[in-house]
Amino acid sequence: MKEVRELSDSELKSLLETDEFDAELCVLADKVRRETYGDAVYVRGLIEFSNYCKNDCLYCGIRCHNLNVQRYRLTKEEILTCCEEGYALGYRTFVLQSGEDLSYKARDICEIVYEIKTAYSDCAVTLSIGEKSRQEYQDYFDAGADRYLLRHETASTDHYGMLHPASMSLESRIRCLFDLKEIGYQVGAGFMVGSPYQTTDHLIHDLRFLQNLQPDMIGIGPYLTHNETPFADKPNGSLALTLRLISVLRLMFPYALIPATTALGTIAPNGREQGLKAGANVVMPNLSPVSVRKLYSLYENKICTGEESAQCRGCLEQRVRAAGYRIVTDIGNARRQVPEDRR
Ligand code: SAH
Repeated sequence: MKEVRELSDSELKSLLETDEFDAELCVLADKVRRETYGDAVYVRGLIEFSNYCKNDCLYCGIRCHNLNVQRYRLTKEEILTCCEEGYALGYRTFVLQSGEDLSYKARDICEIVYEIKTAYSDCAVTLSIGEKSRQEYQDYFDAGADRYLLRHETASTDHYGMLHPASMSLESRIRCLFDLKEIGYQVGAGFMVGSPYQTTDHLIHDLRFLQNLQPDMIGIGPYLTHNETPFADKPNGSLALTLRLISVLRLMFPYALIPATTALGTIAPNGREQGLKAGANVVMPNLSPVSVRKLYSLYENKICTGEESAQCRGCLEQRVRAAGYRIVTDIGNARRQVPEDRR
């Protein structure tokens, strides 16, 4: 088979138009993943620190127009407590994610980042807090932030417009991603699989966009319906297509950190295990206080909202092992080059 990254648009199209599980593709992706990363699966402790959001993304359960969400935000002290717990569990990356909550000023985020980095100098801090000015991104970076996750959601202007209100634009999203890269962050982009109105051509655009951006991290997961959004009647994305895309991404970006996402674990009980076997090499267990977990509801039936962080850790350890991989607790940066002993 021709290298996937060399496939033409029409070849990619035939690979993505079939919505069936492809065992052969999984085997190829797993081989490439093992060449670069062996059986390592990196863990990132996810702290969902606020569900306030100024945006109104049509697919998202915490959009500002959903008035039925009980909103919460964690204090700096509460966030630091999550990190303390996570550190004890072996996590060496903390991902701080939230809606676009304007009550945290740049100074507040910098202070949180700085304090985490001071307390845990062997850890990486990843931010996932949406679109900000270049100056703000620079300030967080100077305060010690290492990585930034900002899914592009879709790389096609027409499709972007169908998923977002007129106040948001693909252009601005892309500007953010390139600013983040230039500043020196390890950057993550990505998209939902099966989001409303998505076509195979949109997916091909997404892959080409990623080839252009060359992100360190690529997050994808199935679109999942939330009843209190304008897309309440739209169906969930497909598990099989998400797995196919994970394999295609692994083959196109051998070096990338690709999570088996919570959305994947939500759409099928063993979704994350299947994601790992298809080429994913990261899992992101929840570290948020159990009291708020259910409130960060981007979509319905989200898993792991009732368990304490330590339980999540144990459960994941088993799942990863059962899938044939091994959790490693180091900082887990992307391996842009294949290690010599694996060449
Ligand atoms: N405010 C931050 C974090 C967003 S939540 C930001 O803008 O980057 C993280 C991701 O969850 C989103 O980027 C989106 O791709 C995904 N998401 C949101 N709603 C979803 C849904 N209904 N189904 C599946 N994934 C969803």
